[in-house]
Amino acid sequence: RADVVEAKAASGDTVLVRGPGARPVGRALYSGKSQIALRMLTRSDEPADLGLWKARLAAAVRFRDSLAIDADAYRLVHGEGDLLPGLVVDRYTDVLVVQSLVPGVERLLSDLVVMLVELTGARGVLARDDVRVRALEGLDARVEVRAGDVPRELIVREGRIEYEVDVWTGQKTGLFLDQRENRQAARQYAHGRLLDAFSYHGGFALQLAACCERVEAIDVSEEAVARIEVNARRNRVTNLVARAGNVFDELRMMERAGERFDTIVLDPPAFAKNKSAVARALSGYKEINLRALKLLSAGGVLVTCSCSYNLDEATFGQIVYEASVDAGVQVSVVEKRTQSRDHPIVLGMPETYYLKCLILRKLH
Ligand code: SAH
Repeated sequence: RADVVEAKAASGDTVLVRGPGARPVGRALYSGKSQIALRMLTRSDEPADLGLWKARLAAAVRFRDSLAIDADAYRLVHGEGDLLPGLVVDRYTDVLVVQSLVPGVERLLSDLVVMLVELTGARGVLARDDVRVRALEGLDARVEVRAGDVPRELIVREGRIEYEVDVWTGQKTGLFLDQRENRQAARQYAHGRLLDAFSYHGGFALQLAACCERVEAIDVSEEAVARIEVNARRNRVTNLVARAGNVFDELRMMERAGERFDTIVLDPPAFAKNKSAVARALSGYKEINLRALKLLSAGGVLVTCSCSYNLDEATFGQIVYEASVDAGVQVSVVEKRTQSRDHPIVLGMPETYYLKCLILRKLH
């Protein structure tokens, strides 16, 4: 716990943090308007200058290189997971998409962009500073090119599938990169008739189509559905149909109609975006898991996810268990998974562990 913050700091300053007895405990980025006033950069009084940022960016890039990722779209910098608080960088082939989430990073961004281009040889850098959390930091929303040029449409590859991505307007920075390894893992178990619920641009649907007879994808966004169809054509996937709809209603209707699926993916948006939303979120997660378990054939596979960091792994597991009890079924755990390795989790920092993904088998 920090007792003393350097006096007269301005939002965005790098400050020396002192603990009991005025002993320096490290340097941090200071946010004047945020509930999180300090983001620690160092745990000593070593200088937190641009040299430190450069070394950490280089380490982040080296780590991704060491992962031998079978895709050309992945997260290059994951904030605290790379000791770079408040900075997110996603790579989409030769374009980088950056997000500055705190004033300290916003202030350094021009320098950081030069370093990133030098490290990666990127042809363009887009700032997707239109994320809501920036408002909590007193930062405005905007999208702008920070270096080179950034085309409207990009083609990226993930395993055997290519996606068309619009990094200017797509959700997150264009794709849900954190699910990449879960999409690959699910290939081992997917079979028969597949339902991809909350499908966005069809990440799971497209990756799993080759292992399944028929694929149905549902997303509430018409734009997302149009994109799935484009991506399906691009990859010559012919056993996939996508439709716009609210998954809550669709699951209920399909249950009433007596439909059956052998594989179901549930990848909803974060229902619990803050602590006050947790109670409602729990009933949302329970409802979709209950319906999915009823729609699943015996021996079927459920890939069920939660990306709410306000809901921990144990609670999510409990909710899915309760859904199975209410559905009158038993399930076994095939795999317990989390966000892809390019989104590192920091021990002791529960906020960095946000994505839970259970791959379950319906026993009866
Ligand atoms: N599975 C996707 C990512 C899903 S993100 C992938 O691997 O890329 C969650 C998606 O749920 C978003 O595309 C959003 O448009 C959609 N969504 C949100 N609420 C919904 C609802 N009630 N019914 C259907 N889709 C919904």
